[in-house]
Amino acid sequence: MMKHLFLTFLFSLVVIVSTNAQEDYKHKDLKKHFENTEFYTVADLPQNANFKKKPKNIILLIGDGMGVVQVFSAITANKGKINMSQMPYVGFSQTQSADNYVTDSGAGGTALSTGQRTYNGAIGVDVNKQPIPTILELSEQNGLATGLVSTSSITHATPASFIAHIPDRNLYEDIAADFLKVEVDVFIGGGKDFFAKRKDERNLVDELKQKNYQVYNSLEESKDVESGLLAILTSDKHNEVYPNRGNMLPDATQKAITILQKNKKGFFLMVEGSMIDWGGHANNTGYIVQETLDFDRAIGKALKFAATNKETLVIVTADHETGGMTIEGGSMTEGKVDGNYTTGGHTAVMVPVFAYGAGADKFAGIYNNTEVFAKMKALFGF
Ligand code: MG
Ligand code: ZN
Repeated sequence: MMKHLFLTFLFSLVVIVSTNAQEDYKHKDLKKHFENTEFYTVADLPQNANFKKKPKNIILLIGDGMGVVQVFSAITANKGKINMSQMPYVGFSQTQSADNYVTDSGAGGTALSTGQRTYNGAIGVDVNKQPIPTILELSEQNGLATGLVSTSSITHATPASFIAHIPDRNLYEDIAADFLKVEVDVFIGGGKDFFAKRKDERNLVDELKQKNYQVYNSLEESKDVESGLLAILTSDKHNEVYPNRGNMLPDATQKAITILQKNKKGFFLMVEGSMIDWGGHANNTGYIVQETLDFDRAIGKALKFAATNKETLVIVTADHETGGMTIEGGSMTEGKVDGNYTTGGHTAVMVPVFAYGAGADKFAGIYNNTEVFAKMKALFGF
């Protein structure tokens, strides 16, 4: 019996140590009440613009852990309206993975990027750990420009699912090396250490430069760059939580659009609001709301471009919900939200899909997360 207990204790220690090393953002920090002080106005979007039936460009924005309640908490906190409120076609995505009713971001991201359900923890590989082509890779092969933007490390599960083929989401250095195998035109996020401080002593920043990438450490440093291959690694690992990282996400989204739109054949861009999920794991209402509003301001950049371009589709969705969040009280006039939570992990519920622009009508209804990929692929005509 004692031996059994001791082994259990040892095993728990190993689990705690390894979990902390890999997922250092999953600290519970229960804060139910949030009162917003930073409000923004939402520009009216044309709703009957003469959009093309098929998009030349697709901007897919993923709010990690962003369920309907997270969206409504942001609507409430901004006194009734956010950019997402203006996206006329709304659907629901069922997020179950191949091996779990409750998905993680690896399987969730891979379903969105490849159209296949896989096991939790997988990055761009199927249940047999075989690589599957992603919408970003198909876009490259078809002459489109491509981009990835995230607030987390760019090697984290969601952005990784669009460019890497790795059996385990925690292998950040392996994921970084996969960035050298695809000519993604623009990528902006954290994670410089996984490129430049590696166990194998490769320096992927130098290798990127040899491949004609312009590599920078901040958006400010890169402000004069308007074309060409561009990598901006804005922090050693993950970026800071909002507001400490400033307007990194909306600015990076705008930067990517500015460069990618120069490609005559069109572009595919994925933008992730990575830390809505982390606020959910923390059960912290302010954290969730501020990250969701920051993500929404990035969505505003994409919508503004789509409204004038008329050949662009903007899709906003999530990989899963986090926290089992609900709202028990609040004020639309004061921007107050009283959240509550049922778990420190992910939940199984459907997540919203919002669409605006060319081909947006295809995203109404209830469907599996894999359909988001299928619909994008069909609209691009691949
Ligand atoms: Mg993520
Ligand atoms: Zn999570």
